[in-house]
Amino acid sequence: MKICMVGTGYVGLVSGTCLAEIGNDVICVDSNQEKIRLLNDNIVPIYEPRLEELIESNRKAKRLTFTTDIKYGIESSDLIFIAVGTPTDYDGSADLRYVFSVASDIGKYINDYKIVVNKSTVPAGTADKVKKIIDNEMKNRGVSFEFDVVSNPEFLKEGNAIEDFMRPDRVVIGCDNERSAKVMMELYSHFVKNGHPVILVDTKSSEIIKYASNCMLALRISFMNEIAKLCEKYEADILSVRQGLGTDQRIGMAFLYAGIGYGGSCFPKDVKAMIKMFHDIGENSKLFEAIDEINERQREIFFNKIESRFDNLKKKFAVWGLSFKPNTDDMREAPAIHIINRLIDNGATINAYDPKAMNEAKKIFVSSNKIHFFEDQYEALDGASALILLTEWNCFKEPDFDRIYQLLKEKIIFDGRNIYNPEKLREKGFEYFGIGRK
Ligand code: NAD
Repeated sequence: MKICMVGTGYVGLVSGTCLAEIGNDVICVDSNQEKIRLLNDNIVPIYEPRLEELIESNRKAKRLTFTTDIKYGIESSDLIFIAVGTPTDYDGSADLRYVFSVASDIGKYINDYKIVVNKSTVPAGTADKVKKIIDNEMKNRGVSFEFDVVSNPEFLKEGNAIEDFMRPDRVVIGCDNERSAKVMMELYSHFVKNGHPVILVDTKSSEIIKYASNCMLALRISFMNEIAKLCEKYEADILSVRQGLGTDQRIGMAFLYAGIGYGGSCFPKDVKAMIKMFHDIGENSKLFEAIDEINERQREIFFNKIESRFDNLKKKFAVWGLSFKPNTDDMREAPAIHIINRLIDNGATINAYDPKAMNEAKKIFVSSNKIHFFEDQYEALDGASALILLTEWNCFKEPDFDRIYQLLKEKIIFDGRNIYNPEKLREKGFEYFGIGRK
C-alpha cells in the first residue's frame, strides 16, 4: 500500500519503518526540517533498539523516504497516518492543534479517495472533528473527494517499540464504515499472524480505549506507590506484597511497581487529559485525579528521603539513570528532572550517568552548572555522598558493589526503582533506602 506517515517522532518513525518493513511504500513527513535532514543523512534522531538498522535497510530498498513536503506525501498516498504530538494544553486537555493542522493540510491537498488514520492519542470525538476540517478545506477549494477517517491508537512501548509494532498484543481499529475497515484489516493482517486479535470498533470507542489503557497502567503504578506507604509504616516489604498480589491471575504482575512514579510523554499527559474529559462532561473523576496526585507526590517523597538523611544538601550526589524508563533516550516528564532540580535548588551538585539519555538531559539542564555528565557509571560515583538510582537500566542491576563502596564518600544508596536487595547491601556496609522496602 502507499502510505504517508505525518509526524516522524517516536510513534511515526517506528510505525512508518515497520510498515515499510513488510513491503509498503512509506513516505514519512515531518515539519521539523532538522529532523528530516538528519534522517536523510542516515542519522536517526532518537534512540530505539533496532530502529537504525531497519531504517537503513528500508531506505536502501527505496520503500521508506523522508520529506518535509506534506503536499507530496498526501497526493502520493492512499492512506495518510497522523502521528503528531498531542501534548498537554494549559487546562490539562490534549492539545489537538498539530492533529488539526495535518487535517487541514489533508483537506488542502486531497486529490482522490484517501483513508485518514489517526494514530495520535486523541479524545473521543476527534475523528469527527478531523472529518469536518477536511470537508471545510475541500469546500474552500471547491472540490469534493471521498475519504474516511479511522482511529488506530498506538500501544508501542518506547524501548521495545519495534517488537511491539511488529508483534502487538492487539491492534485496535476504530472505523465507521466497511470500506475503510477492510483496508485496515488487510494492512494489519501481517502483524497479527501470531493469532493476536484485531479489535474492530467504532471510532469513539477506539479513541477511549487508548486513554483507558494508559490510565489503567498508570493506576497500577499509583496503586503500588500508595501501598508502599503502608509498607513503610508497618515495616512490610512492597516486593513481597507484589508477589502475593500479582500472582492472583485476575490481577497479574505487570505494572505493579512502587518507585518514583511514572513519567514519559504518555501516562502523565493522558491521565491529565482523562481528568479534563470528565470535566467536559460535567463530572469530577476522583479516581483519575488521585492517580495523578499520587504520581506527582511520589517524586517528592523520594526527594524527602534524601533530604531528611542529611543535615543539608550542599553535597555531591551521583545519579544513575535519567531517562523516564530504560532503553530509551526520552526525557519527557522523566521523574529524574524533578528530583535533580529539587536537589540542585537545595545546594547539591550532581554527577550524572545514563547509557543513552545524556544528550537529551544536557538540553534540559543546559543552564545549570551544578550537573556534570560522566561517560562511565563508576566515575560518576567518585567522592559522592550517595548513589541515587533513578532509572532501572540493565547495566545498573548487578554492579560492582565493592567498587561502589570504595568510590562513594558516604556509603549510602537511594534506590528509586527498588532494584537492589536491601539485606545484601546492608551486609556490604551500605545504608539503603528504597520505596516501601523492609
Ligand atoms: P513526538 O513529539 O516524538 O513526534 C511528533 C512529531 O510530529 C514531531 O517530530 C513533530 O515535528 C511532528 N509534527 C508536529 N506537527 C506536524 C505537522 N503539522 N506536520 C508534520 N509533522 C508534524 O511524539 P510521539 O511520542 O511520537 O507521539 C505522537 C502521538 O502518539 C501522541 O499523541 C502520543 O500520545 C501518541 N503515542 C506515543 C507513544 C510513545 O511511546 N511515545 C506511544 C503510543 C502513543
